[in-house]
Amino acid sequence: MYFSKMFLPTMREVPAEAEIISHKLMLRAGLIRKLASGIYSFLPLGLRVLKKVEQVVREEMDRAGAQELLMSALLPAESYRESGRWEVFGPEMFRLKDRNDRDFCLGPTHEEIFTETVKHSVRSYRGLPLTLYQIQTKYRDEIRPRFGVMRSREFIMKDAYSFDRDDAGLDISYKQMEEAYRRIFDRLGLIYKVVEADTGAMGGSGSQEFMVISDIGEDAIAYCKTCGYGANEEKASCPPLKDPVVEEELPAEKVLTPNIHTISELTEFLGCEPTRVAKTLIYKADDMLVAAMVRGDRELNEVKLKNILGCTELEMADEKSVCTVTNAEVGFAGPIGLKIKIIADYEIAQGKNLIVGANETDYHIINVNMERDFEAEVHDIRSIAEGDTCPCCGNEITLARGIEVGHIFKLGTKYSEILKCNYVDESGNEKPMVMGCYGIGINRLMASVIEQSNDENGIIWPMEIAPYQVIIVPVNILDETVMNIAKNMYDRLQKLNVEVLLDDRNERAGVKFNDADLIGIPIRINIGRKAAEGLVEYKLRRGHEALTLTVDEAIEKILTQVENQ
Ligand code: ATP
Ligand code: MG
Repeated sequence: MYFSKMFLPTMREVPAEAEIISHKLMLRAGLIRKLASGIYSFLPLGLRVLKKVEQVVREEMDRAGAQELLMSALLPAESYRESGRWEVFGPEMFRLKDRNDRDFCLGPTHEEIFTETVKHSVRSYRGLPLTLYQIQTKYRDEIRPRFGVMRSREFIMKDAYSFDRDDAGLDISYKQMEEAYRRIFDRLGLIYKVVEADTGAMGGSGSQEFMVISDIGEDAIAYCKTCGYGANEEKASCPPLKDPVVEEELPAEKVLTPNIHTISELTEFLGCEPTRVAKTLIYKADDMLVAAMVRGDRELNEVKLKNILGCTELEMADEKSVCTVTNAEVGFAGPIGLKIKIIADYEIAQGKNLIVGANETDYHIINVNMERDFEAEVHDIRSIAEGDTCPCCGNEITLARGIEVGHIFKLGTKYSEILKCNYVDESGNEKPMVMGCYGIGINRLMASVIEQSNDENGIIWPMEIAPYQVIIVPVNILDETVMNIAKNMYDRLQKLNVEVLLDDRNERAGVKFNDADLIGIPIRINIGRKAAEGLVEYKLRRGHEALTLTVDEAIEKILTQVENQ
């Protein structure tokens, strides 16, 4: 491709709403343009990358034995009604009617549709296992579209669905997808963690997320550098200590703590550590009030609490309810004498001589011990913290932020039972198929690569998905010798199937170098003063050094570099 012919509207100034580096660079490098909130066009250079990302995903899906098909984005409401998700999706689902007033949606994800398709086509165990996938456009009316294509309202997803006879079969299909995902992320050169995820309302028996490590990630993850354990913060387990502190139980005592409302005020007033304090938080779980207790230095994990209570809605109780159940102002809740269900974290059960609210304004009680002074149901309800011990190996936990780029999920028979996707086994019994689902956001994946691979000058594409592998920059296009070598190299590289750009613009060398760096082409060939001696400069986007080589040597080196990815 000749640069002068390319539709590449780069941008000098990007709008302030582009907060993160990948969003800024995608706009600046002319990869995408915004149409409306959360809706983007991919321009030629961006589309080349997007297609390559798709291709990597496709190759690894195919290699894992999954078969590609393509479904419509415009979907009839019926099967979503049957599964209950017509309601569950709420305002996130784009809905529309046809001319006959029938309901349709723009598919946010396709579990129902794949289940229906397989149901009508596979009847016997002989047709299983089966994994199908598509790379297709999804629609979600996100409450807060942001970060460019990271969270958009229209995006491309690779979604795969596996169908097996039993759980053992699902385990195999799931493992194959997990391995395919690892290969995809490795090929793109990403730094990522595979973490256990909460299965929440979706049910199912297991789920993992592929998290690209990045400070702009919306998810908090916990992982262990020693044993490889990783979990989404919501899910990371905080089991009881194997050898808790042994301490003599002291007599409980009510103390005056006037106008003390926060943990830090309390610890300062009493001259103790926040680890001594037990917070009692009053929650409204559906229509019931419950108390949850965690140590003063800990965060309560609402996802864990919600799962334990099995409720649909969980929120902090309002001030009035707190005052009513505790008979005190907010800030003095405690477990003693409380008439509602109490859930205490393991650290509360294992802690000794704790400080709690007295359920009386301006008072706390010190030296409180569970079992002796109050009763509670004990569970893991706190959020894991930096430096905690790993639940698998006991070493230290590290916290990080991650961008969820992929998600694999053991659905079990949730959809097959509701939609009656059954098969007949060897003994003639009808059974529901056991399913898994596996998603990767293609656009988000592309943006995540930029997020991890850039410098002050622009994008640094890994060879695997670079829009072009090589850019030839003739420093002065008016110099005939220079241009002859440039065109000759260009032709030779094209014949060798190398994807090459020739910057034939009549611009200063500096401008061309900046553009080449901005759009992130992995190899740059500068043709300048030494052209007369048949020499060119070979420079990698990632490196600082330029090598002076003959044209033949340069071509040789390019081929090796391209092949090694
Ligand atoms: P999130 O928590 O980020 O909203 P999700 O849990 O809703 O993601 P899934 O339903 O598991 O996502 O979708 C599978 C994949 O699709 C995600 O891992 C992500 O890569 C991608 N994805 C989901 N929503 C969006 C979006 N609005 N824009 C771009 N990609 C998305
Ligand atoms: Mg979402």
